[in-house]
Amino acid sequence: MDDKKRRQSMILYIIAAIVVYIVLSTVLFPNMQTRQQVVEVSYTQVLDDLNAEDVDKISYDNSDLSIEYTKTGEENTVYTSTAMSGAQESLQDAIRESGAEQTNTVQQDNSLMTYMLLMYGLPILVFLLFGWWLNRRMKKAAGDDGPSMNFGGGFGMGGGLGKSGARIVASKDIGVTFKDVAGQEEAKESLKEVVDFLENPKRYEAIGAKLPRGALLVGPPGTGKTLLAKATAGEAHVPFFSISGSEFVEMFVGRGAAKVRDLFKQANEKAPCIVFIDEIDTIGKKRDGGGFSGNDEREQTLNQLLTEMDGFDNHKGIVVLAATNRPDSLDPALLRPGRFDRRIAVVLPDLTGRKAILQLHAKDVKTEPGIDLDAIARATPGASGADLANIINEGALRAVRMHRTRATQEDFEESVEVVIAGQQRKSTVLSEHEKQVVSYHEIGHAIVAARQKGSAPVTKITIIPRTSGALGYTMQVEEDEKFLTTKQEVLDKLTVYCGGRAAEELIFNEMTTGAANDIEQATKLARNMVTRFGMTEEFGMVALGTVQNAYLNQDTSLTCAPGTAERVDAVVVELLREAHDRALQILRENKFKLHELARYLQKKETITGDEFMTLLTRENPLMPKQPMA
Ligand code: ADP
Ligand code: MG
Ligand code: ZN
Repeated sequence: MDDKKRRQSMILYIIAAIVVYIVLSTVLFPNMQTRQQVVEVSYTQVLDDLNAEDVDKISYDNSDLSIEYTKTGEENTVYTSTAMSGAQESLQDAIRESGAEQTNTVQQDNSLMTYMLLMYGLPILVFLLFGWWLNRRMKKAAGDDGPSMNFGGGFGMGGGLGKSGARIVASKDIGVTFKDVAGQEEAKESLKEVVDFLENPKRYEAIGAKLPRGALLVGPPGTGKTLLAKATAGEAHVPFFSISGSEFVEMFVGRGAAKVRDLFKQANEKAPCIVFIDEIDTIGKKRDGGGFSGNDEREQTLNQLLTEMDGFDNHKGIVVLAATNRPDSLDPALLRPGRFDRRIAVVLPDLTGRKAILQLHAKDVKTEPGIDLDAIARATPGASGADLANIINEGALRAVRMHRTRATQEDFEESVEVVIAGQQRKSTVLSEHEKQVVSYHEIGHAIVAARQKGSAPVTKITIIPRTSGALGYTMQVEEDEKFLTTKQEVLDKLTVYCGGRAAEELIFNEMTTGAANDIEQATKLARNMVTRFGMTEEFGMVALGTVQNAYLNQDTSLTCAPGTAERVDAVVVELLREAHDRALQILRENKFKLHELARYLQKKETITGDEFMTLLTRENPLMPKQPMA
């Protein structure tokens, strides 16, 4: 059931609940406003009231000497008091004389209980019944094969307590097939087998082959894992039960395991089908032996999942797909044969993959003729499918902002920068001097890049500040997809990182904070050279660090002795010092061009790679000849 219907029924339910509550509390319990009030009075006051013959009903308890009474015409007030010990006789006389009615009790204690029960209990009961009825009605309306939903899966009081809240999407609603997934050929190939199994399980049964019960999609965020799982269900025309790991952990303790049980129960009814557990790492983390019971809930959920996966009848055709970007943190029990024994790698797209994804998403966008998506694909190494989809959409949005009806190449190029560096920040106004420093800094990077063979060509230089905090940047794009990087290329890259700061020093004889990001990147790269790439004389081919999470970031942690770590630091410092010296040297040799280009950039704020190269290689009659690298 779609979200709109769900919301509508939710609103309907809440309105009905409020109406029921108001009706009950005003019509059935009019004494809500006239509830009895209790006033404590002195014993003398009791006697006075009796003498004045004001008392209507009175009760007197011999055991604890408590008195309760109501006055004529004041039914809603109960007066309480305590008799003086030894005064029972006189009190009895006074009561008799006053003509008050003596009863066992005047305060309707038990009626208060009933009242409370009716006042609060009945509406709740009505709510529950109503929610249950609504739930039933909806399931019926949805029909057996149609999409169904659990009303109130996350709603607590209404119906659906104990239901998993897993969304069930019938195949006709998925509308996603392998055609909607560009690239990822290997992953699709593996999943085609799953599709085939779901379409004709008999063939597999006949030969006695057992298909994996589960397959785990692993890969960095945004590479299309969720999309692939949906597409698999779409291809096989089977229902798709999807639940996210984080949904298991929400709400009340003990619900997670119940959810798993319910999820598989539903799947069993609808088999053949696909059960998809997104972000399985939230429940599937390694269980640590003993210690605190803080993770009990998660552990129970995981255990239940393992039990269910072992238990279901595989002939029916239930395939469990799961997705994660942290496979290393998964509990080994999950990866045992018979569970998620099959791993399907969903990788970051390469050049062809990126182009295919861009083309797929650009299909829905009106563009000027002759858009060069190839150029965009080349400019976005390391971008995920989600990034690329976002680039196309940002480009279309920019076209709308510019009041155009079609997106242009420029729109897409600008959106690449938005995705990489953030939006342009018009509010940051740099002083002329700051602009000058940033110009020299960026031209410094660019000249160093252009003067080295191992650097990617410069495609754009800009000093327009970005929301990411960058005051300007130099874009470099490799001509071809690169899978291997040589040591020389790494060294050249280090030098380019140092080019910005070196230019500032050379021209202004000063340092600024503008190089902070360059320094961070350069240090990371130099450290990797030492600890992972084995590119230094000092250590050779020794792995000194491990990558903690291959899919989230490439951050390494050192695995060497503290003494070695010290030497690693020394080598890193040396690598960076050498790179800095090389950058300075290149810029000294090209000082005139540095001045010329920086002035030009400061005036124009953004220049293309072609403009840059033309100016750099142009013979200027006023300036001394440039030594060519
Ligand atoms: P993940 O689950 O791996 O984090 P998603 O499946 O949620 O990534 O992908 C997010 C979005 O990115 C998708 O909805 C789709 O628009 C886009 N996308 C990612 N990979 C691809 C691809 N290979 N082909 C087409 N679109 C893709
Ligand atoms: Mg996902
Ligand atoms: Zn820089």
